[in-house]
Amino acid sequence: MPPTNRKFFLLMAVCCLLLTLHRPSAWAAEQTVRILATTFPVYQIARNIGQGVEGIDIDLMIPAAMGCPHDYALTPQDMRKLAAADVLVVNGLGLEEFLGAPVQKANPRLKIVDSSQGIARILAYAAGEHDEDGHGHKSAGDGHDHGPNPHLFASPRMAALQAAAIARGLAEAHPAGAARYAANAQAYGQRLNRLADDMAALGGRLANKRIVTQHGVFDYLARDMGLEVVAVVQDHAGQNPAAAEMLALVAAIRAKRAGALFTEPQYPEAVGAAIAREAGIVAARLDPVANGPEQAPLDYYEQVMRRNMTILEQTLGSR
Ligand SMILES: [Zn+2]
Repeated sequence: MPPTNRKFFLLMAVCCLLLTLHRPSAWAAEQTVRILATTFPVYQIARNIGQGVEGIDIDLMIPAAMGCPHDYALTPQDMRKLAAADVLVVNGLGLEEFLGAPVQKANPRLKIVDSSQGIARILAYAAGEHDEDGHGHKSAGDGHDHGPNPHLFASPRMAALQAAAIARGLAEAHPAGAARYAANAQAYGQRLNRLADDMAALGGRLANKRIVTQHGVFDYLARDMGLEVVAVVQDHAGQNPAAAEMLALVAAIRAKRAGALFTEPQYPEAVGAAIAREAGIVAARLDPVANGPEQAPLDYYEQVMRRNMTILEQTLGSR
């Protein structure tokens, strides 16, 4: 081969190599905005808000089945996801206490979108009513008993506000999708508010409006529906009451004539069921949609909340 031809082939080979390195898929991957959501509820909202937006990828950080990440600790896999993400969508209000300094270390350029941003009428995360009896629950230092109640997502009314906050944050992080994020948030927000209206209407019809919950997850929903949470099984999420506390709960449930005790799919239900049995009230499972299936449909939240309405009506009775 003459030297000029050899040079030509060498040049072609280099060009081929460069083309391979910059093939369209690799180029597109570089352009993709990687959105990571901490928990199942904000992940589902972000998926609805990001529907039809080009150039984004939405992933969930902690397992879908996990539920409320009270007492959660970051895993190496979480750290890898954080390092690779461009945007982190968080519930906020202290639900992600496991974040903090490690996040900045893993990814200093990460843009954080707080779903609770700008939301008014935040409730205090109070311990259960039976706390007034002075039993020994966790100290204030655990950060759960006196801070804001982070469970906005279990109220469709508040979830609609979270959707709007997430849309604003995503539009700021990814201006190319701004119009679509806003339109999606408006449509999804309208659906959630219709659901909230239906739940409030049901609340008005319920025969007994006094309920017992497993942990402080339904406080916003109760406010929306005009229900009163008269006792809470777990002062500290995930931690079952001691025997003396169980007796105090039974007494409180009887004294306040609660209509039903609601357990949650994310926690074992035996203790709640035993307390309800002892107090002589019905126990049923109400799902705050804190967790869900891996491949949940986009309207999963609405489906579950509609099922919750049936359960509320069956257990509390309606007029
Ligand atoms: Zn919780």
